[in-house]
Formats: sequence, C-alpha cells, structure tokens
Amino acid sequence: MPEFRLYNTMSRSVEPFAPADGETVRLYTCGPTVYNPAHLGNFRTFLFEDLLRRALRLRGWKVEQVMNLTDVDDKIIKRASEQGKSIREVTDPVVTIFHEDRKYLRIEDAEHYPRATAYIAEMIQLVERLIANGVAYLADDGSVYFAIGKFPAYGRLSRLDTREIQSGARVAQDDYSKENAQDFALWKAAKPEDEACGAAWDSPWGRGRPGWHLECSAMAMSILGETLDLHAGGIDLVFPHHEDEIAQSEAATGKPFARCWSHGEFLLTDGAKMAKRVGNVQNVADLRANGVSGAAVRHFVYSTHYRKQLNLAGEALEGSMEAVRRVADFAERLKDARGGTRGLEDAADHLENEVRNALFDDLNAPGAVAALFDFIRAANKELDAGGSDAGALSRAREVFAMVDGIFELVPDRVNADAAFAQWVEQQLEERKQARARRDFAAADAIRKGLEEKGVVIEDSAVGTKWKAR
Ligand code: AMP
Ligand code: ZN
Repeated sequence: MPEFRLYNTMSRSVEPFAPADGETVRLYTCGPTVYNPAHLGNFRTFLFEDLLRRALRLRGWKVEQVMNLTDVDDKIIKRASEQGKSIREVTDPVVTIFHEDRKYLRIEDAEHYPRATAYIAEMIQLVERLIANGVAYLADDGSVYFAIGKFPAYGRLSRLDTREIQSGARVAQDDYSKENAQDFALWKAAKPEDEACGAAWDSPWGRGRPGWHLECSAMAMSILGETLDLHAGGIDLVFPHHEDEIAQSEAATGKPFARCWSHGEFLLTDGAKMAKRVGNVQNVADLRANGVSGAAVRHFVYSTHYRKQLNLAGEALEGSMEAVRRVADFAERLKDARGGTRGLEDAADHLENEVRNALFDDLNAPGAVAALFDFIRAANKELDAGGSDAGALSRAREVFAMVDGIFELVPDRVNADAAFAQWVEQQLEERKQARARRDFAAADAIRKGLEEKGVVIEDSAVGTKWKAR
C-alpha cells in the first residue's frame, strides 16, 4: 500500500498520515450551526470531508467520524429571540433540512451527529477541570474565561505572534479576529434572552450556557477520546475556533488534542466570500429548483483541489452538469457492453493506480477526476472496437464501480426529477396561499418564477395542473 500523505495545518506541510492504532481513523469535523439551512460554501467543506473519509477507507482504514450539530450559540439565540421561538424550535427543522440536503449531495452518513445541547454536563466538567488546573477563571460578569496567558502553546496552530496575545483582556462573543486574541468565554452567564428561548442551564457558576469553542472540545473528547487522529473543518475555523479547541482540550488533559489538522479552502461566489449573513446565499433548495443534481455539484467541487479557493461563477455548474451526463452515458454503455479488449483492461488498471496515487497524495481529487475522464475516453474507443474478452469487461466494470463509489458522479435522474417536482408543488402551494389572502402580486411572482424554470401551469375549477416544458 502506498503511503497516505496529507497537509497538516499545524506543521504547514504535507506529511505521512496514519491512524494511531493502525486501524481506525478517529475523525472530528466541525458541523453546521443549525439556524439556517447550510449554504453551498458549508457544503464544499462537508464534501471535502466526505471525500477524505472515502479516501481513508480506500487506503484500508476504518473511519469513525463525528460531525457535531451546533444547536446553541450566539446566532441561534438571536434568531430564536427575533422569532419568539425556543432554540429547539429554530434548530429542529434546520437539522432535518441539513440531512436531506446532505443526502441530495450524496454525502455519506458520519458515525455520530451529536447535538451540543445533549453534552452540557460534559462541557461543565471540562470547565471544572480547566479551573482546577488554573487556566480558567470566573470573571465579575459571571462568565468563565480561558486565560490564554497561562497556556504557553496558545497560537501555535494559527501562528499567532506572541505580541498579539493580550493576556487578561476578555472577549465575550465567539467570533473575533486575531487582533483580538484575548481570554475567551468558556461558559457564559445567562442573560434574560437566553432564559427566554431555553438556552440556559444550571452550573456551578449559576445559570449559563456554553461558548461555541467549548462545545466541540467536549463532544470530540467524549466520543472519540482525548487524542484524535484527525480534525478537519473550513479554513476560517483555524482562528479562533480550532486554536481555542486546542487550548481547552490540551490544558485539561495534558495530551495532544489532534495528531493532524486538515482545512478546506472557501467557496466564493463571484469572488465574494459566501456567508449566511451576507445574503448572496445559494443552497441545496436552489439546486433542486434548477435541476442541478448532487452528482454535478460533486463534480464541480472535486474538480478543484481542496486547498484552493473555488469560485461559483457563471457557467461553472453547467459545465459540471454536462460532464456528469458523459459519465452517466458511459456507465450505461459499460453496463450494456458484451465484451472488452485487452486495451480496456489496461485502461482500467491504469485508472485504479492513478486514482489511488492521486487521492493518497494530499487528496488530489482533480487529478483523480481527470484520470476518470481519460479512462472514459480510452474505454469508449476500446468499446467502439468491440472485443469479446469477458474478463477485460468485468475488470473495467469493477474499477469503474470502485471509482464511482468514491466520487458518485453518475446523476440519479429519478431523484433529480422528483426533487424538482417537489419544489414545483411547494411553489404551487405558496401561490395558492398567496391568492387566498388576495396577495395577487406575490402569486404572480411565483407563477413567473415557475415559468422561468419552464413550468407551465393551468388553473381550473378542480385545482392547478402543471407540466414542465
Ligand atoms: P458554520 O455553519 O458557519 O458553523 O460552518 C460550517 C462549516 O462550513 C465550517 O467548517 C466552516 O468552516 C465551513 N464554511 C463556512 N463558510 C464556507 C465557505 N464559504 N466555503 C467553504 N466552507 C465554509
Ligand atoms: Zn468545532
């Protein structure tokens, strides 16, 4: 077996990687904050992690992956307060959508999806350990802070300059910049709005709630143990989130928290950073509405290396839709073929090698995808030539199935159609409601939106019928 090499953010270099026990990779991936459906930027990171786990398995290891669901944090509480709901009422439907969206993109199930609110006791225990070790303190605002000056390794992951570390100064919110590297909140004293939406728990320091960073440390160590093999996430999490996770975990246990750190670059839309707050959101609901299959998105994402920025601009997705159509046509042809040639078998052997070498070399997905398309070109030529070698054909099928089992680029036509139909039905229902409340402008806007997607609707006494052009 070739070596598996992966870029480690801690050392800033590509290094050999293997699980500590030689068998199972204990992988922690920071999951979505469930106040809004995840956007395609989030899903680029989750797709990178999906490929990572499949590549690790191809190398022969088992994978035990945790993807947490952040179901209590500053943003969720703000949303719940605005809408007069409990945090649970905000997060439950978003969790459901997350799993549906993830399946649409054919992202495999992780082994664990812990919700932060189910680990409050573990979080409190972790804070108690940190106070006992003298690296955390209760401040006069009733919150508990981590004293970064007491943890000499602070800043190693993000290469923070020691001059930037402001010991003693405190930051209460979870999101802050490097310029504000200060003591950060582990446990936040409850405010009336936290109590109002069910985001407050009893603790030795009074009513309160966990900070975001603490959540991941507690869930990771509770489920996977005190030293992880691999910790992954989007590049924006290096500071402060992962820096703070390391500080909290290592200052409590005295052991290394993760043996390797892996970060995926951002997805940009026309050069602008995508974020749920900005408003230029593109999510899986938009994909369904436009008939873009999960396979096409996978092709789009895997055609760029995970450590390069990716721009979702103009025709990019259309190119990928065309590309996966070619893969689907080939899959069909290979299924129907009667025999192969020696050349077909050689092409299959070559593909298998190329895909392994590419993926084990810092997850070079674009290299592997290019090898797949080279194979399709070569194999089509061989199939044109006919041939009667059953062994060659079955070898080609076997390798193609192995590669497609990793990338999943054959679009599921039935699913894409069903998703589109579901979207149309939902639009029609909204139009019906708009008409019932005599909001004809809204109803017309929905009809226009449907027409733009090629949907013609026909109203009659018994209801509305539609057909796609
Ligand atoms: P959040 O729901 O904001 O906690 O983010 C969930 C995951 O998505 C994290 O790993 C982030 O690093 C990642 N992420 C957020 N925005 C983007 C983006 N535009 N491109 C790629 N990954 C992102
Ligand atoms: Zn995290």
